[in-house]
Amino acid sequence: MSPISRHYSLYCPVCRQRFSDEKYLLSCPNGCNSLLRTEYKRKDFHPLSGHGIFKYKDWLPVEDIIKTQSGPICYKSEKLAEILNLKNLWISFSGYWPERDANVISCSFKEFEAYPTMQRRKECNSGIILVASAGNTARAFAEVSAKIDEPVIVVVPKSAIDKIYTSNPAKNVFLIAIDGDYTDAINYSDKLCSIDGIVAEGGAKNIARRDGMGTVMLEAVRCIGHLPDWYIQGVGSGTGGIAAWEAAIRLIQTGNFGETLPKLLLIQNYPFTPITNAYMKYRRKIEQFDLPGPDEESVYAPVLTNRAPPYSIVGGVYDALIETDGIMGSVTNAESIDAFSLFQNTEGIDIDPAAAVSVAGLIKAVYEGKIDSNSCILLNITGGGYIRRQHEVNIFHKTPDVIVNYLDQDIKSEIKEFLNKYE
Ligand SMILES: *Cc1c(COP(=O)(O)O)cnc(C)c1O
Ligand SMILES: [Zn+2]
Repeated sequence: MSPISRHYSLYCPVCRQRFSDEKYLLSCPNGCNSLLRTEYKRKDFHPLSGHGIFKYKDWLPVEDIIKTQSGPICYKSEKLAEILNLKNLWISFSGYWPERDANVISCSFKEFEAYPTMQRRKECNSGIILVASAGNTARAFAEVSAKIDEPVIVVVPKSAIDKIYTSNPAKNVFLIAIDGDYTDAINYSDKLCSIDGIVAEGGAKNIARRDGMGTVMLEAVRCIGHLPDWYIQGVGSGTGGIAAWEAAIRLIQTGNFGETLPKLLLIQNYPFTPITNAYMKYRRKIEQFDLPGPDEESVYAPVLTNRAPPYSIVGGVYDALIETDGIMGSVTNAESIDAFSLFQNTEGIDIDPAAAVSVAGLIKAVYEGKIDSNSCILLNITGGGYIRRQHEVNIFHKTPDVIVNYLDQDIKSEIKEFLNKYE
């Protein structure tokens, strides 16, 4: 692919230079402390017909698409809205719910990241993707890998092994299970990224991840007809919040969907609330004392436990909150569990614990008077439909290829053997 033919370039908000995406760029070549942002040639909003995230291909960093029905859906809530006395509550659902055309087999919005990322890797001709995950990201990448027969290496804590399954056999997935927590998985995978032939997925720095997650806002605006006043999401890294903000900027630039950025309400699961603690004091930096002690296990939504979120970096979570006039929230496990039941009983589908955190955060903000009952609210249900999927779609559990018992354990030879298959 020649650089001229690409329909986007990468922009650094610090040095204000533009770059072409030849080598799966994750950061500014000038060394700036920023998130690169995608600039698309096409400025009008032009969703293609059909389902699946690639109907937003104009605003995804890929030249070709993968055929899939997987994408966000959006509808106006009736029952939950009535109970909370909200006039204009919209639900974005990323999961499995066939009646509503929601066909996300791995059941979370991480799949919207995995599709364009795997495709971008292929087009940029870089090495094999390595991704560390608390479970949902790993399952999403495994699902896409199994669907398109492209390799991926995933690193998860041992406790997440049960969560790694796919709807096709995962023949090209190399699964590494760490005897430790999510933070250990991240640290261990950082070391593996120096191996030749491996590229780090990149987390928030990966534009395909952010623009993929941004399709939630695009689909919502396509359904609602204009930008919402609020965007609500349970967060660990906050990347979904950054993505919603960036997508809203693009929509405002079209001139057709409003001029005001949706305010972000991002919620963390107490006691794991580093972003909330720092932002409540308007600090641009997360300090050691913002992080919880070794009591992560007590968190209802472990996918929300990220110790190093992209918060301070230019274009990151802090900037997204400031620019949108957003707020941070925090909810307990008990509040989240109650919210799970309320959502299931009103809307009629089971949701991911992290999505229950979103619901609990909405309830609390309404109760505390932070959100006006007439405002247009977009509630991001980031995952769900596990029970439905279990009953209807056959799955294949992936067993680990290596188990790492000590954090200094050397598994280079096992990894090289896997890489060699794809030379
Ligand atoms: C990863 C994840 C989140 C948190 O997303 P971030 O925006 O990266 O903080 C929320 N819900 C679910 C279901 C997730 O898998
Ligand atoms: Zn720069």
